This record gives sequence, C-alpha cells and structure tokens, in this order.
Amino acid sequence: MTNTRRFSSLAAGMTLMIRLSTALAAPPLPPSPTPDLQTVAESSGFSATSTHAHVLDLLGRLAALSPNGRMASIGQTKEQRPIPVLWIADPPVSSSDEAAEATIRDGRMVVVIEANIHAGEVDGKEAVLILAREILTAPAHPFLRGLILAVVPNYNPDGNDRISTDHRTSQNGPARGVGIRENADGLDLNRDFMKLDAAETRGLVDLVRRSNASVILEMHTTNGCFHRYAITYDGPRTPAADSALVRFTQDVFLPRVSRSMDSATGLKSFSYGDFDAAHTRWDAYPALPRYGTQYFALRGLLSVLVESYSYDSYQQRIKASYHYARHVLADLAEHANRTELSAVLSAARTAPEDKARSSYTLRHVARAMDAPRSLLGFVERVESGAAVSTGEPRDYSVSVWTDTQPLLAASIPAAYALPEACREVVENLERHGVRVERLAEPARAPCEFHRVDRIDRAEHAYQQRRAIRLETTVQRAVRDLPIGTVIVRTSGPLHRLIVHLLEPLAEDGLTTWAFFDPWLLPGGEFPVIRVMDASSLSTRP
Ligand SMILES: [Zn+2]
Repeated sequence: MTNTRRFSSLAAGMTLMIRLSTALAAPPLPPSPTPDLQTVAESSGFSATSTHAHVLDLLGRLAALSPNGRMASIGQTKEQRPIPVLWIADPPVSSSDEAAEATIRDGRMVVVIEANIHAGEVDGKEAVLILAREILTAPAHPFLRGLILAVVPNYNPDGNDRISTDHRTSQNGPARGVGIRENADGLDLNRDFMKLDAAETRGLVDLVRRSNASVILEMHTTNGCFHRYAITYDGPRTPAADSALVRFTQDVFLPRVSRSMDSATGLKSFSYGDFDAAHTRWDAYPALPRYGTQYFALRGLLSVLVESYSYDSYQQRIKASYHYARHVLADLAEHANRTELSAVLSAARTAPEDKARSSYTLRHVARAMDAPRSLLGFVERVESGAAVSTGEPRDYSVSVWTDTQPLLAASIPAAYALPEACREVVENLERHGVRVERLAEPARAPCEFHRVDRIDRAEHAYQQRRAIRLETTVQRAVRDLPIGTVIVRTSGPLHRLIVHLLEPLAEDGLTTWAFFDPWLLPGGEFPVIRVMDASSLSTRP
C-alpha cells in the first residue's frame, strides 16, 4: 500500500523474483467447470489480467449461472464505466435495500468484498472472481447459510483499463501489464473516504450504508518491503473507533483467520507493515480514516485490509488472496463467530448515554506493541543507495508499531450546529449517510465554540486539496441559533464518524480536507458549534 523502499534493480528478472518470493506453493485454485467461466488470469496462463469488459462479461455469466447470483452497479465512473457488484445470496438479493431487509428478516450478515481500488494491484480482482464462481457453482454453499456477499471485483475500472507493462514494474507480473493506481481524475481512492470526492467512493459508501453491511474486505498488493508472508493484513486500529471493535479484530478475529489459513494451506500471514532499514521495527501506515480500513471502522464495521506480496508470482498472489478471503468468509459463516461479532458491532454503533463523560480520540500517534516479535524477512544489502533482498531467509526480532496512543480527545456533544451556508459540508455529511436536520424555529442553547488561534495550510495540494491544521481555544456560552441552522445529532450509529468529520481539531476530518477553508480567520470563530443540550431544539428534516 505505501512504502518508501523499493526494489531498485528492475533488470534482475525472474530468477531473483523467485528468490524473493515467499516460496511455499499455495494449494491449487478451484478449477473452472467450463472454459467460458475462466478468469483472464486462468485462460492466459497467468500472464494477463482482465479488462473491465472481461469483468462485466464474466460477472454476467456467473449471475446467469445460478439463481443465487444477481448483478447490479454501485455507480458510474468519470469515463462512464459502470462499477459492477455481484450479489451472492440464498435466497437471492438484487440490491442494497433488499440485502438490508434480509439482515433484519433472517439475521444474515452482509459482507462486502472490494478489489482493485489500486488498479495495478490486480490479483485481488482475479481471486474474488474465482471465489464468486466457486460459491455460485457449488450446490448450497455453506457460506450462504449466514452471509450475503456483495462482490465488487473491479472498483476502479478507469484505472484498470489503462493497462501497460510500464506500471508497477517491481511487481512480479502479470507479464502483459496492469492498470494504474489512481482513478481517471488522478485521485487515490484509498485516501478519499472522508472527503468523498470520487464517484467510486460515493458508490461504495452508499452500498455499505444502504445494505447495512457488517464486514468489508479490501484486496491489495504490497509495494515492496521484503518479507516472507504470503498475506499481510490489517483491521481497525484508529483509537477514534470503538476500542472493543479494535481489540476484537486485532486480538481475536485476525489472528484466528491467520491461524486457520496457516493450518489449512501453510500460507503465512501477519499484520501489514514494513521493516525499517535496521530491521528493528515494523511500521504500519498511519491509522487515519482517509484509508478505507479505518474509515469503515468509524462506521462500526469490521474492516479487513488484505495485501498479497508483490514479489510472489502472479499466480501465487491470486492463490494467497483467494485463500485469505475464503478463510475470512469461513470464519464468519460459523454461527457462533457471527453471533460474537454481531454483539461487538452492535455496541460499536450505540452512542453513549452520558455524552459529557465520553472521550473520543481526535489525534493519535503510533506506539509499539508491548512485546517484540520474531518476523520472517530476508537478509538485505544496500545497492545503489536502496535496500535489496539477497533472497536468504532470516528472522528478525522487532518492535511492532501497530498500536496507537491517543494524543487529544474530546467529549461528544448532544449535537453539532452549523450555518446553512456550509453547503459543501452538508453535502458531504449526507453522502456519508449522516442524518442532517434544520432548526424549524429559533433556539437558545448552552454551547461550546472554538476560537481559531492558528491556521496552518499545507504548501502544496495533496489529493487536490490543501490540507489544513488548526489550533483553537474552546469557549462556553448560551447561543441564539437562527431558524434554518443545520443540526447534526450524535445519538445515532454514526456518532464516531460525525465527531471526526466535524471537530476542527480532528486529525483527518473535514477541516483537514479544507471544507471549512472559506470560514477560517485567525481569531475568528469556527463555524461548527457544539450544542451541549439539544433536548429543546425543534427540527425538521
Ligand atoms: Zn493498494
């Protein structure tokens, strides 16, 4: 996903790639029952990846194959490509609304599987097509007893179809090239989850929201750290998410899936990260909700990042992605595990009764886990200023920096109030599915507001926005709120997301992404007010 050290010698070729790979051959993929149901990866002898047209064609065939498969779209890209979703359920569902009804009617759980967000990382796309085919061609597949699957194999179709052998040249195949990381607007879709600038992100968030999804898997390929894990994974880590959800995913769920894949296939997996140059630390990416895995945790979902290893062969990466996704589903399909998870998710989606005593993390730093771990790496040497693997296995005792420590926290107000003129903010909130109301009559309420002490704007745009960081002083007053004032109550399931979007000091909220820029003046008042008692507010939708 992100990495600073890259494999420098592109001319090294296949021999070295084999020496860098995790080496252990994964068990075979389930064969296609007929040639017309083969993926492009399979039919090309693992030398090519599918175009968007190939994906649409295969999804159409799979949906026609079984009454349990239904094809739909979650939106349209800038270049007018539909973003397909294959619903797999028994009894079947055809839409997010039908899936949500089924979760209430018969207690099934919606699992979204999204692949190819970075369209050079194509193995997840091929793997989930094979998994979908396997489930749809098996009579009464056990996964469908309790699960509804929403499979989005080609989430970034515009990026996917820019296939070239010039992309991701340090990745070990496919030989006939892959697409690009960004979408057609040049946006990295895995940085877009708070700002929702891209049609792709809006479509996925809408799917998750309307379907009442409980779990999301996101399929990637690593960017170049040398290690001996077929899969590195992540889950919720941000301390802005519910701590019981974080602990359940990190301490119970992900290790359990890792163990079950290891015992069934021999494939090793560990928490996503990179060695530092001295091999004393293992560092993860910052746990910010711009990344899907952290964002969906703020919504109260169990989210799983899946990264195949870029130096493994294309075929091996597809196998590893397939087996990992399969073991996640197998775990969820077990009734007792689903019951356990439901309780965790339900608690994560319930706002605290006593809001004044609540504490929501706004900023954090990474921290090492208590005990060092022995991790599977290679002996490396420096060549032309870059670290390269010698291919010789070596285990390293390292401190694992995947834990977090809160730096700044706030209590949760009863509601937030903001002027109607903040239209871009209101639109964004609605796209997240946040319930936005307006004052039906003027009100007087005890409030807290932020006086802006300092505004730091980034020198350069990142993801087409100039990041902003504020320092403020909180003051209390009884305020008059005019009719039409936008009111966002914090009593619903999205309370954690609302706090992070609207608090001016949050590390990755709408302030960060410059949504409030026109309203910011040094010494001025931040436009969002914390309403401490919202019981007397008369509102309309
Ligand atoms: Zn990626």
